[in-house]
Amino acid sequence: MAELLASGGTPGMVRTVLDNGADAVYVGAKGWSRRRAQYEMDDEQILESASYARSGGKVLRVAFNTLPASGEIPLLLAKVEKFMAAGIRDFILTDVGAMTALSRNFPGVRIHASVGCTIVNAQDARFYKEAGADQIVAECRMDREEMRRIKQEAGVGLEVLVHATTCYTLLGRCTMSSYTRQEWRIDAEGKNHFLGSPNRGGLCYRICMTEWDEVGKDGAVEGRGIVLPNVAYFLVDDIPSLIDLGVDTIKIQGREYSVPLVGEMVRFYRELIDACVKDRSSFALGPWKERMAGIVAARDAERREKTAGLISESLSAP
Ligand code: SF4
Repeated sequence: MAELLASGGTPGMVRTVLDNGADAVYVGAKGWSRRRAQYEMDDEQILESASYARSGGKVLRVAFNTLPASGEIPLLLAKVEKFMAAGIRDFILTDVGAMTALSRNFPGVRIHASVGCTIVNAQDARFYKEAGADQIVAECRMDREEMRRIKQEAGVGLEVLVHATTCYTLLGRCTMSSYTRQEWRIDAEGKNHFLGSPNRGGLCYRICMTEWDEVGKDGAVEGRGIVLPNVAYFLVDDIPSLIDLGVDTIKIQGREYSVPLVGEMVRFYRELIDACVKDRSSFALGPWKERMAGIVAARDAERREKTAGLISESLSAP
């Protein structure tokens, strides 16, 4: 059966998602994942969270899904060595060089190619497999036919996001936040915390969701208040077909949301997947869609508030 993977933005969120039925949880190492520091964890918190997961027979993955400079690779390898010595085997990566370094240095490591890799077809999936990936995350807009081809042709695990945002651009290739704000901070270990670029370890300021003016060739403003499309979605109708397709992991993103809301999302998908698998022939989606409507409303309220905060932060002088 497909594994249910959920976000662990804090140690409390890790416990909540595992207690609510997630099979696995992902966390970000401080400065190394695509979120701001408050939703990432220091090494001790990661080790404690991994121990909690293991005590329930579950799995913790650590995200190192940013693009490191050459000088940061030894830091990455040292952290992975420390985590592997404590029994953590699963790591989420974006950078091809880092994947290759991990697979060469650490037998038994399991590498998950992040959504930041922008994997859109079976050829991409094969490429990342050759770089060392055991599993790849499908790009958010991928259709079922592409997923089917990856399952049939690439020989690599497939992970699908059922709660995420599609982004205006492809998520791993967006540089919009860097236009408004860039800050560097090198920490005591030598890691560059590059605010303004999620791909480098900072965060996305959701700049696509601010209001834009459209300016014509002569410089005249031709349209105001334009918001670029960036849809936050939940998949519900697709769950039966994803299960039938044999996807390996169903993932719920959401480190920045409140712990009770993320717990509710996990409980919802746990019960939906279990009901679908238990009695596929009489399974009906109607009641699940009604229940999802309440979760969508709560998520949208939190998202609006957080987006407004991020945009105003990005536009204020650092
Ligand atoms: S600025 Fe918009 S399109 Fe770019 S990563 Fe952020 S949410 Fe996605």
